[in-house]
Amino acid sequence: MADAVRSADELMEMLDLPKGGLALNIRECESFPLLVPRGFVTRMEPGDAHDPLLRQVLPLAAEEEPSQRVSADPLHESDAVIAPGLLKKYPGRVLLLTTNACAMHCRHCFRRCRSEAVGDWQPALEAIAADDTLHEIILSGGDPLCCDDEALAGLAERLSAVRHLQRLRIHSRLPVAIPERVTDALIDWLTDTRLTPILVLQVNHPREIDDPCAEALRRLVRSGIPVLNQSVLLRGVNDSDETLADLCERLIDLGVLPYYLHQLDRVRGAVHFEVPEREGQALIQALRGRLPGYAVPRYVREVPGQTGKTPLL
Ligand SMILES: *Cc1c(COP(=O)(O)O)cnc(C)c1O
Ligand code: SF4
Repeated sequence: MADAVRSADELMEMLDLPKGGLALNIRECESFPLLVPRGFVTRMEPGDAHDPLLRQVLPLAAEEEPSQRVSADPLHESDAVIAPGLLKKYPGRVLLLTTNACAMHCRHCFRRCRSEAVGDWQPALEAIAADDTLHEIILSGGDPLCCDDEALAGLAERLSAVRHLQRLRIHSRLPVAIPERVTDALIDWLTDTRLTPILVLQVNHPREIDDPCAEALRRLVRSGIPVLNQSVLLRGVNDSDETLADLCERLIDLGVLPYYLHQLDRVRGAVHFEVPEREGQALIQALRGRLPGYAVPRYVREVPGQTGKTPLL
């Protein structure tokens, strides 16, 4: 992470693209700056300004275009906070904003407007212990795997002492962003806890899975951890049935189940990635015509006030 690319000029140079972006209209963004691991850049196509991996990390002027239908908190998450960094929106499960840090800054991210520090987990742990309707804890963020294994193993131990919890779910992009993050220590604490581990990745384009990433995912799957993937439907990245079918097959071949295809949350700065729902529904129908049923993700969107994600098909 310390070695990650943080400047658009450097990124353009690495990709043999003109500095200053010319046709791209790059606009540096102070509150959510460019951040991309070098290994992820090597999976981009040099010379292609429209590369779907590049699009996910390159800050563009389009992010600043004002739009009336967006907000900083489109999901009304502030209503769901039951302790610092702890969100309870759906029955039985609770989401801990384990850290604010991420290995990369995805331009479409709906957490891009968040910055509240998640320093001390103790108040959240007390709230979890006090609510025996909870059976699952989701470590999210930011990216929870930005924390080191010692801290996470300690957290897992404290969570496993809460008798009503059964499952420990991790939402992380790190096995894709930096496959080296899948360490022996990570697999050890994930498989040693009393809680059933589940890992949910975010891969949006098949080319994100290069050989080192595939190897990291294979190791996780072989160690017995259920690994799922959620993608965000993104204009210019994965808005074609060809791309989505390739992605789903690649995942399935590695033992990773396509879980969700998310309709973009309308967060400020990300609206240029939006694909209309009607188009998303047609894409899913096309996938159903090409893939085994288990390889087709559920197309969903988050609607404030609902007790789960809302299916769009
Ligand atoms: C999406 C989400 C979950 C998990 O929902 P699943 O449908 O179980 O994957 C839990 N809590 C919050 C706050 C969420 O946004
Ligand atoms: S929370 Fe996930 S999607 Fe958002 S910037 Fe971090 S890694 Fe990317």
